[in-house]
Amino acid sequence: MWLKSYFNLSNDRALWGKIADAIFAGPKATPGEQGNIDPRVKRSYFEQSWETKITALPESLKKLLQMARSVNMRLESWNPSKEIKRSRQIWFHGDASPRLRLLNNSRAAHCLKERHGLLTVGQAEDLANHLEKHEHFPWDECECEHCVKAEELGCKHPHTCFSKAKELLDMLTPKWDPRKSDLEESEDDLVTSKNWNEIDTRITTHGTLGDVARIFMEGPTSKSLVPPAHKDRCQPDESPVMVIVGGVDNKRGEVEARSGAGLLIKRPEGIEEKSFRTPERYGNSAPAGELYGVLKAIEETEPDQPLNIEVQTKATVELLMKKIPDLEDRGYTGIPNRKIIQKVLASVRSRKH
Ligand SMILES: [Zn+2]
Ligand SMILES: [Zn+2]
Ligand SMILES: [Zn+2]
Repeated sequence: MWLKSYFNLSNDRALWGKIADAIFAGPKATPGEQGNIDPRVKRSYFEQSWETKITALPESLKKLLQMARSVNMRLESWNPSKEIKRSRQIWFHGDASPRLRLLNNSRAAHCLKERHGLLTVGQAEDLANHLEKHEHFPWDECECEHCVKAEELGCKHPHTCFSKAKELLDMLTPKWDPRKSDLEESEDDLVTSKNWNEIDTRITTHGTLGDVARIFMEGPTSKSLVPPAHKDRCQPDESPVMVIVGGVDNKRGEVEARSGAGLLIKRPEGIEEKSFRTPERYGNSAPAGELYGVLKAIEETEPDQPLNIEVQTKATVELLMKKIPDLEDRGYTGIPNRKIIQKVLASVRSRKH
C-alpha cells in the first residue's frame, strides 16, 4: 500500500514522497561518480535516470527501494496521455536516449535551468515550439515576442536555448515524446488499408504519473499483470479471413423484440453463412446485434489467424476505433451495450492479430 502512495507523483502527492526524493537525491546518497549532477534537476527518482546509493538510505527508504526493485516497478503505460508526458522531468528523463545525459552541461543547458526554470517535458515543448513561430527568426538576435520574453528572464541567446530544448525532446523515446502524442496519430498507423481499420485496443492513460506506475511481478503471475505485447503484424503472405457482420432487430417494443447477427465468413476454401440470436443480456437493438456478431466472428476464427471484420454501421466502427479509451476511463457508466462492448474488447485483446 505504501508503495502505491509514493507513486502518486503529482504536485500534491504525499509530502513524504517529496521527502523521500530529497533523500534519494541528497549528497549522502549520491554515488561518487554522479557528484557533478546539478542537484536542482534531481527531482523524482523513479522517473529519472540518476542513481542513489541504497546503503546510505534510512531503513524505511531502503525497504521501499528494495520492494520497488523486487516487483520490478517502473513507469509504463500503453499510451500515456500528452498531459502525463508533459508532466515528467526532462533532465535525466528515464525513457530517453543515453545521449540525453550528455546534454546537461552546455551554456544553453545552464541558461535553461537557471533563467528559464526548465524542469518538465511540457516546459521544454513550449520553449521548442517558439522555433516554429513564423515571427521568430533563427538567430539569437531575433526580437520576436518570445525572444524578448526570454531576454527579460536574463537569457542572452534565446534561439540557442529554444534549440537546446528541442534537442532535449529529440532524445525522448517516441512513446514519451509529447509531440508524438495523441491516440489519433497512432491510430493512423493502424490503418492497414483503405476502408479498413484495425480495432484499437490500446489504452491511453490519463491522470497523473502515479497512474502509469506499474508493478511487474516476476514469475508465473506475470501474464495477468503485464499488458500484452504489441500484436504481430500480418505478414504479406498471410491472407486474412474476412467476416461481414450485420446486426438486425425485430421491431422495437414488440413482445419478442430480439436482435441477432448475420455473418458471412470468407475463407480461402470458401464462404460460410451463419446467424446468431443475441443473448438477452446483451440487449435487443441492432447495434447490440452487430457487436454480438463481431464477437462471434472472433470466436469463429482461430486465435492466431489474421481477421478482417466488416461491419455495416459506421457507429460501430467509431465505437470500437475511437471511443474505447474514453469509455474505459469513465467506467462505461451510462453506456448502452456496455456488456457486449467489454466482451468484444476482451476477445480482441486475447487475439494475436
Ligand atoms: Zn525569436
Ligand atoms: Zn510563446
Ligand atoms: Zn536562455
